[in-house]
Amino acid sequence: MKRSAVSFDSIPAAATSVTNLNICLKCAFDFFTKQLKLTPRTAYSELKKHVPEEQDFTGSATSRPHFFAEAGSDRCPYCQGTKRWFAQFRAIRIDAHPSIEKERKRLWTALKKEPDHFTIWSPERTQMQIFSEWLERVKKPLDLDGDDWLLAVAVEQMKRSHPNVNWAETLAAGLKRVQLSRQFDKDFTYENGWLYVAPPVYGDILLVQHLVSRSHLHGGRTFEGRLTLQELMGRLRRISYLETRGIEASEMYEAFEQAVSALVASGPTAVYYAVDRRDYLKQLKSIYEKKRDK
Ligand SMILES: [Zn+2]
Repeated sequence: MKRSAVSFDSIPAAATSVTNLNICLKCAFDFFTKQLKLTPRTAYSELKKHVPEEQDFTGSATSRPHFFAEAGSDRCPYCQGTKRWFAQFRAIRIDAHPSIEKERKRLWTALKKEPDHFTIWSPERTQMQIFSEWLERVKKPLDLDGDDWLLAVAVEQMKRSHPNVNWAETLAAGLKRVQLSRQFDKDFTYENGWLYVAPPVYGDILLVQHLVSRSHLHGGRTFEGRLTLQELMGRLRRISYLETRGIEASEMYEAFEQAVSALVASGPTAVYYAVDRRDYLKQLKSIYEKKRDK
C-alpha cells in the first residue's frame, strides 16, 4: 500500500474529534457467506466497499458487526471472536469554523485523491444542531457532582470559540482558575495557571456551564455558584455581556434565548467527516487471503 500524503495536522485539534470504531470481520464475512450464501470472493469484494454509517460512529445506533472497544474485553460482543478478527475504522470529525475553512478545503482536496482510503461526507446540520451535539460530547465524560468539570467545560468553550489557538501548549503548565478580568484588551491571557478572560468570554463560559448542568439539578452551576436563570441573567447583565452581544430583549426568557443564539452563531458552521479505512482494508485483505488459501 502506497504511503498516504494526507495529514490532518493543519486542522486545529480543538476543531476535531476522533472516534475509533471496531468491526468484527468474522461477523462481517459470516453475514455474506452464511446468511446470504455468497462465495468468500464475492463477500470480499462487497466488504471492500463497506463504510460504517454516522450513527455507528456516534454510538446512537452502533450495530453488528460494529462495536466500540471496551477495557478488559478483547472479544467480539456478537460472536465472541478473538482480536485477530478485528479491524478499526477511524472517523475524524471536523466542526468547521469559518476561520479554518481554507485549511479544511485543502485537506479535502488531498483526501479526494485517496477515495479508497478515505470516505468523506458532510452531513446536513444547522448551527444549533452542531452546538447541541458539541454540548452532548462535552457533557458525556463529566462528573457533575464534583467540581472539576467547571474548569473542563471552560476549556472546551475556549477551544470552541478560539479553535486556532494551540490550547495544549497554552495550558501546558496546567489550569487552576479562570478569572474575569477587565484589564486586558485581549480575549484572554494566561499567567501562572490562571486564565484571565474578558467579560464577553467569561459570559460565554457561564452560559455554557449553565446549559451543561441545568438539567442535572435545579438551576445551573457556574463559576459563580449555582444560579437560577434569573440570577444568571443578572450576572450577565452586570458584566455587560448582554450589551456586548447586542442583546436588547428585556424579558428574561427572551434575552436568554437571544444569548444562546448568539453563542451558537459564534461557533462552527458545518460538520465534515473523514473515515480512514486503511486499517480495515489491510485486515480485510489478510483475513480474506487466509480464508481463500485454506
Ligand atoms: Zn464477531
